[in-house]
Amino acid sequence: MTEQQPQKKKGINTFSTFYLIILLIFVVSMWFLFRAIIFYQEGLMDEFMTSTLIAAMGLATSGYMLFQMRRRTEAITAMVQKSEVVSVLECAKCGFKNLRKFLKGDHVFKVVELCPRCSADSLMITAIYQQEDEKAKSQA
Ligand SMILES: [Zn+2]
Repeated sequence: MTEQQPQKKKGINTFSTFYLIILLIFVVSMWFLFRAIIFYQEGLMDEFMTSTLIAAMGLATSGYMLFQMRRRTEAITAMVQKSEVVSVLECAKCGFKNLRKFLKGDHVFKVVELCPRCSADSLMITAIYQQEDEKAKSQA
């Protein structure tokens, strides 16, 4: 069995590391899928079921991670663009609503800070969207 290790490059960013992990999970899943076929041919149903389950979970995980990474990449790309991305903060208790500039790490359903109005509940991000240039200018 030959192992091909990727050469370590300077400045490998988190994104390529993430994609590498996704790829690794995918490859392992395919290997389990391959084993499952062999087990099936040999009539080892228990092993077949286990391998299929692991392969399915692995494929689902890598697919989900890829989907999340794409979303994150899109969010960051949007941030880089001229128009401003804003996060909507909302209090579930009193309905207090606040708009602030999108910060790195923001995501919908993220609990950020205590509600300044009622102090009984925390503000949660309910929406993240890109504001049009003109609106952003008039608010400044
Ligand atoms: Zn509140």
